[in-house]
Parts: sequence; structure tokens; C-alpha cells
Amino acid sequence: MKAPSFAYARPRSLAEVFDLLEAHGDGAKILAGGQSLLATLNMRLSAPDVLVDITGVPGLSGIAVEGGTLRIGALTTHAEIERSPEVARHAPLLAQAVPHIAHVAIRNVGTFGGSVALADPAAEYPACALALEATLVVAGRQGERRIAAGDFFRGLYDTALAAGEIVVAGEFPLRAGYRAAFLELARRHGDYAIVGLAAHAKLDGGRLSDVRLAFLGAGDRPMLAVEAARAVDGKAPAPAVVKAAQDALARDLDPPADLYTSSAAKLHLARVLTGRVLAALIA
Ligand code: FAD
Repeated sequence: MKAPSFAYARPRSLAEVFDLLEAHGDGAKILAGGQSLLATLNMRLSAPDVLVDITGVPGLSGIAVEGGTLRIGALTTHAEIERSPEVARHAPLLAQAVPHIAHVAIRNVGTFGGSVALADPAAEYPACALALEATLVVAGRQGERRIAAGDFFRGLYDTALAAGEIVVAGEFPLRAGYRAAFLELARRHGDYAIVGLAAHAKLDGGRLSDVRLAFLGAGDRPMLAVEAARAVDGKAPAPAVVKAAQDALARDLDPPADLYTSSAAKLHLARVLTGRVLAALIA
């Protein structure tokens, strides 16, 4: 199918973006890498009046360490994140997760901001952002707001972005002494995950603390497994501890079934990933 007809604008500043969003309201759609949006247009799942292409707006891309955080601009591509030495050093969880996003051609164009704004519950960045206690920086006519990842992802393709706002960056706190592990199970490499797990924890003398286990594909948004994390916190992940964490998942998650995988099967996969990730965190 072909996309319905739409107008196209390529603003050169954030002020122009906000003008366009104000003028067109719900009829305007931000275009970043287009790797999700263009498919929804072609399938006629979306019919905006105007696409507001933000790729000409300066200052929205790049990776920098500043003020105790790793800042990733909204227009930074998946490939740039994958190749970044700063990301590998300061947010290795992201470095582990990016190769699971789609395929090289899509990673060359798709953006960090597009992925978090889309808020697909099976996407990698939202779960990583939750595990790493990241902050999403959004901007609108009134200025910038900083929203904790835990508050930003509200439900299926739903975020805390207000009308007229766009994502401008993500900020990831710099932390020493932490370990990261990212694993997912997909039907084929490059497909969206059936279930995935982004894990981050402090490792000290073989014991894990400040454990954060964020699942993708296991709810209507990235899901933090609080009970499972509590079962491991302050302990070495010996077999009995791992089993307690796996059992606790039934209290944390109630994964929705999809066309291929039942809720029970997803919970089973979440248990499997938890065992593997806890082993990886201390390896
Ligand atoms: P676009 O497609 O341009 O926009 C996506 C949505 O976000 C639109 O609603 C747009 O209006 C909005 N938007 C974009 N940028 C902003 C912003 N800065 N502020 C506010 N709103 C904004 N993704 C995964 O995470 N994991 C996968 O495994 C995966 N597999 C894929 C497989 C295929 C075959 C394809 C085609 C895509 C896949 N994707 C996957 C999606 C891909 O990662 C996209 O790049 C990403 O979801 C959206 O980024 P984009 O820059 O292309 O955004």
C-alpha cells in the first residue's frame, strides 16, 4: 500500500518545530529516522496532515558525558550508539542491547528519540532506560522538562509527552562498580523480542545490590520486576536465590499473550532470562 498524501516540513530550529506542532495540533507527526513511522503510513495506520522532519534541527544528536550523566541526543542513531566508546564505557547495558535492534540498515537510520517516543513495549531502549534510571529530556514552547523513565512510559505506545513537546535527549547517570547484562529471546535475530531483560546491579564481593531488572515484551510498557530484584538484593546469586527470584516473577509480571506466545510461555521465558542474566551479572 501507499501512504496517504501529506504535507512535509523541514524546520531548522526547535522554535519552528513548536510553531508547526501548534499550528497543526494532532494533524502533525514528528519524523525522525522514519523506520517505524513510514511503515505505519504505508499501512495506513496513521494519516497525518503534515510530517515535521526534525533531522535539520541542530543540537539534537550526539553523545556526550556532562554533569554526571551520559547524554544521548534524540537524533542519535542506533548505529552511533552501537559504535560509541562513551556508551561502551558508561552505559554498557545500552551497548549490549543495540545489536538486538532490528538490522544494520535500520540501525543506520533509526534514532534513540524515535524509539523512546514510540514506546513499543518490546523495544530495547525503554527497558534499558528503566533499568539505568535514565531521565528523558523533553522540550516544548514553555521550555524543557526532565521525566524519569519510570514515569515516561505510561502504557502501550503511550508516554508522558504532552501536546507540542518532543524528546530532545536521554540522560543516563554515571555509576561506578555496577554490572550490566542484556539478553532477549526473539524468533529471528532482528525481530522484536518475545521477551527480553535489561539488568543492572552493583557488584561487591560477589553480592548484588541496587538490583534493577527491567523486562521488555512482558507488559504494556517496560516492566520493572521489583519482587524478583528484592529476592536477590544483598545476596550472591546462588541457585536457591536465583530460584526465589524466578518464583517472584509471577508476582511482578502478567505478560499479555501475543499471536505466537501464550502468557504462561512468556513467564517461563522471563524465568529463563532471569537465571541467565543473574549469572552474567557476576561472570
Ligand atoms: P520514526 O519512525 O521517525 O518515528 C517513530 C515515532 O516517534 C513517530 O510517532 C514519531 O512521530 C515519533 N518521534 C520520532 N522522534 C521523536 C522525537 N524526538 N520526539 C517526539 N516524537 C518523536 N525497534 C526496536 O526497538 N527493536 C527492534 O527489534 C526493532 N525491529 C525493527 C524491525 C524492523 C523491520 C523495522 C522497520 C523497525 C524495527 N524497529 C525496532 C524500530 C526502529 O528501532 C525505529 O528506528 C524506532 O522505533 C523509531 O525510530 P525512528 O527514528 O525511525 O522514528
